[in-house]
Amino acid sequence: MASLNAAAPDALSVLRRTFGHARFRGPQEEIVRQVTEGGDALVLMPTGGGKSLCYQVPALLRPGTGVVVSPLIALMQDQVAAMAQLGVRVAALNSSLDAGQARATERALVDGELDLLYVAPERLTTGRCLDLLGRSRLALFAIDEAHCVSQWGHDFRPEYLQLSVLHERFAGVPRVALTATADPQTRAEIISRLCLEDARIFLSSFDRPNIRYTIVDKLEARDQLLQFIRSEHPDEAGIVYCQSRRRVEETAVWLRSKGVRALAYHAGMDAAERSGNQSRFRDEDGIVMVATIAFGMGIDKPDVRFVAHLDLPRSIEGYYQETGRAGRDGEPADAWMAYGLTDVVQQRRFIDQSEASEEFKRISSAKLEALLGLCETAGCRRVRLLEYFGEGAAGCGNCDTCLNPPHTWDATEAAQKALSTIYRTGQRFGAGYLIDVLRGQTNERVERLGHQQLKVFGLGADIDERAWRALFRQLVALRLAEVDHEAYGALRLTEESRPVLKGEQRLHLRQVVDRERRGTQKRSSATTELGPGASARLFRLKTWRLEQARAQGVPAYVILHDRTLVELAQECPQDSAGLAAIGGLGVRKLERYGPMLLELLAQ
Ligand code: ADP
Ligand code: ZN
Repeated sequence: MASLNAAAPDALSVLRRTFGHARFRGPQEEIVRQVTEGGDALVLMPTGGGKSLCYQVPALLRPGTGVVVSPLIALMQDQVAAMAQLGVRVAALNSSLDAGQARATERALVDGELDLLYVAPERLTTGRCLDLLGRSRLALFAIDEAHCVSQWGHDFRPEYLQLSVLHERFAGVPRVALTATADPQTRAEIISRLCLEDARIFLSSFDRPNIRYTIVDKLEARDQLLQFIRSEHPDEAGIVYCQSRRRVEETAVWLRSKGVRALAYHAGMDAAERSGNQSRFRDEDGIVMVATIAFGMGIDKPDVRFVAHLDLPRSIEGYYQETGRAGRDGEPADAWMAYGLTDVVQQRRFIDQSEASEEFKRISSAKLEALLGLCETAGCRRVRLLEYFGEGAAGCGNCDTCLNPPHTWDATEAAQKALSTIYRTGQRFGAGYLIDVLRGQTNERVERLGHQQLKVFGLGADIDERAWRALFRQLVALRLAEVDHEAYGALRLTEESRPVLKGEQRLHLRQVVDRERRGTQKRSSATTELGPGASARLFRLKTWRLEQARAQGVPAYVILHDRTLVELAQECPQDSAGLAAIGGLGVRKLERYGPMLLELLAQ
């Protein structure tokens, strides 16, 4: 069919021909139109929502080069590789280039030979780079991970503050800022620091419906984790976050001893080993990465099937960002966390003992409280999460509390017993000892201190140890008791304890569940539904992809996504028309890989 303006490609045909996608997703089309027409935009979209297309398509549609500011070199390299695979004229300017390479890129920019240029922020804001941009034709500026301007956020990058210069020096060039961090405070900071007052704001829902949230009562965290991996995600890729380097190392070794293909990643490791592990995680199937949060931004792997937390993160933003690395491909994925009293104690101690300003401590505390509220809620986790980001929601049916609604109980009397035990033993003991006293366990220490004479001794024998542990955790989480950091975790009363002790305030708390029952409907990912023929094809396709990735020195998903491989294995196309109908195969990839794929599928 002849088109009137065949010379000027429209957004949809760029999407189809270059990217191989059939249609825009959600607000992408509107954003692309806004930026292509020269307007500014602030794009708030969850991880995996499809932010990159929002600037890549306009950069291809508008004359000149699209300049992308991106904070991480590793991520930049992967994006450049992915764009190059699509036949886009792309380059990067960052500290990994030698002077000759940098000069060649600069020349290509000025000569108008680039569709996209990725630049590190510290580089972009140098006088030299700004002059260079001044001499070039620019299609747009895209500021990726825009929340890095937020001074309260955990990804703060001082260089990002300098980016307001773009508005001042290049007033006519449209700017689009993108982030997956959604809280209103960060949003306001982005707008003011990047001078985006006139930008159109595109706020997507931050829900990630394919992620199932589960927070379990921490008993033996490692065993619980292993059981979770074995029953839900055997041989699948996942990330396990731990707080300390030592715990990362120990957990990785332990998981390997149990037959899980686990690798470690933290900032204290030798750089070569660390990047080697990262590449293996990215390129091979079914690797579990045990890591500190140093393993974070820039993990673009689309088929991470679970993210587990063995320790409590610092805030809901952190938790949401970390768990958001699961299931970017939209297939079912899990966010799993084990949480206990020591987590609450540790996080409070970090804040109390930090050298930071009082204001910073106050904000950190408020963030921790919100996270504890999420952990202790008897309601839907997703509703809590989305409310935190200012979004309303209804019960989701895909979190632990929706699938197995926990009971709540009137814990007033038990709390009174617990608090008076703290008081009568002199506010000098931790939860373990207090539980012994409550349950009437005699031991050498109890006898030495004469605590079996106390009125509270044995008063709580009707409640088992695990339930008492949960109650003490809840008391601390609710600030009805607090931990004395100087006295090895001894619990003491607070101002808030009094109304409960006096019976003026009743307490309804979440009850611990006996066993962690998962939803009965076991979800199957696309892969497990394949028949034997398709499974064999998928295996061959994956082997081929790994060879390609190794030979070209790019991540496997840059060659083709899992979802594309699954579709290929399922549909098993026999000619190029059949191939073209598969999602994720644009013109360039069809040319390059089509013949190989057809041959492989014909076997
Ligand atoms: P984000 O940067 O928001 O985390 P990406 O831009 O990396 O997300 O996109 C996430 C995934 O969704 C990628 O695998 C991408 O190829 C895919 N994707 C994005 N837009 C579309 C679309 N319109 N159709 C099909 N797949 C898409
Ligand atoms: Zn729910």
